[in-house]
Amino acid sequence: MTGLELRELRKTYRSRGRPSVDAVRGIDLNLRSGELLGLLGPSGCGKSTTLRMIAGLESVTGGDILVGGASVVERPAQQRNIGVAFENYALYPPLSVAENLAFGLKARRKAARGDVDRKVKEIAERVGLTDLLDARPAGLSSGQKQRVSLARALIREPDVLLLDEPLSHLDAAQRDTTRRELKRIQKDLGHTTILVTHDQEEALSLADRIAVMKDGVIQQLGTPYQIYDSP
Ligand code: ADP
Ligand code: ADP
Repeated sequence: MTGLELRELRKTYRSRGRPSVDAVRGIDLNLRSGELLGLLGPSGCGKSTTLRMIAGLESVTGGDILVGGASVVERPAQQRNIGVAFENYALYPPLSVAENLAFGLKARRKAARGDVDRKVKEIAERVGLTDLLDARPAGLSSGQKQRVSLARALIREPDVLLLDEPLSHLDAAQRDTTRRELKRIQKDLGHTTILVTHDQEEALSLADRIAVMKDGVIQQLGTPYQIYDSP
């Protein structure tokens, strides 16, 4: 059982010669194990900063992050068991798609070769990458790269999954299939998930609850029905 809890989470960016930026100004959230939260809000409201802090890719100015009840703020990213698919999260160019996926798996634990191959095939099939396993990232469309990032995050079977606009580069048909697949994977494997999106339909069809951020705080939190039905 791995819920995710944020307590009074804050981030202030300070750089020399420039005014500091209070990007995240005290976020409290409690996600139960297996819950999918849709995170919405205008550009610059602090969504990516929040995800990066949870992933351990950005330091925390204040507050706490708990995974399965244990604080992870002092742990480096690799020790958090959090899967991330971010827009600009680079794939390794010299490696094939299959090797990129296997890399994510091997980095986590010493896995037997046969197991790795089987997992790579399984996840590739789930997100529709079977025909692209031998391709290099440079030869892929942005939608295809996005599916590789998603697969790479999922293959580690993380406790917590963080997805930043995971379907934004897909065409309408692909988005439909990938969304359905994502929903199924998330239900099957029970990841506690935060998904950043601009797409109302995506939020409605995937999220158990929706949080709307503005200026570094959560302004609204509720079921999709409560959020979209409120005046
Ligand atoms: P969102 O993901 O909602 O668009 P961000 O978390 O990217 O929002 O940004 C929140 C605020 O923090 C913005 O004002 C942005 O300009 C600022 N910001 C983001 N990253 C940095 C950084 N590395 N250094 C300084 N300011 C940053
Ligand atoms: P290693 O354990 O050898 O350092 P990792 O791939 O675990 O290699 O970690 C390297 C960095 O890349 C870490 O910051 C890690 O969080 C990040 N990283 C690697 N794979 C992923 C992934 N699938 N999703 C998100 N972040 C990843």
